Amino acid sequence: MQAENNKVVSFNYILREAGGEELENNRESIPIAYLHGHNNILSGLEEALTGLKAGDTTQVTLPPERAYGPYNEIGRKQVPIKTLEKKYKRLLPGMFVRVVGQKGPVNATVIKPGKFMVEVDFNHPFAGKTLEFDIEVTNVRDATPEEIAHRHAHGDGGHHH
Ligand code: ZN
Repeated sequence: MQAENNKVVSFNYILREAGGEELENNRESIPIAYLHGHNNILSGLEEALTGLKAGDTTQVTLPPERAYGPYNEIGRKQVPIKTLEKKYKRLLPGMFVRVVGQKGPVNATVIKPGKFMVEVDFNHPFAGKTLEFDIEVTNVRDATPEEIAHRHAHGDGGHHH
């Protein structure tokens, strides 16, 4: 069975910045499962997985415009520490936090903590990066009618309610 619309595809991955360091992988956990054809993963990744079967491997390179977009300098801002969603004993550069604004909490990365203010970066951590995925497909199965109605995969590696 091959990966196509309305199949649930499971895969292992290693993500690197092109020509650089490893950013992420799922070695410590079970394969990721997604419902093909419903925008559950980056579209460039889904395209590369189309037609693959269990046991197939592939390498996909996605420039920023096909991944998490360009890096935007105005995404770096000073915000009052009291606007962070949680209280921290100590803020350190690189920590992921949520800043509560008028439209609710937004993800950010700490750049430079101060006494009352903290400089954060609202860019996605992978913004501006060309991403290289090493993929190994571990399973392809038919989606259930419920999964298709929900537009995501259920069960191991998928969505839990
Ligand atoms: Zn569901």
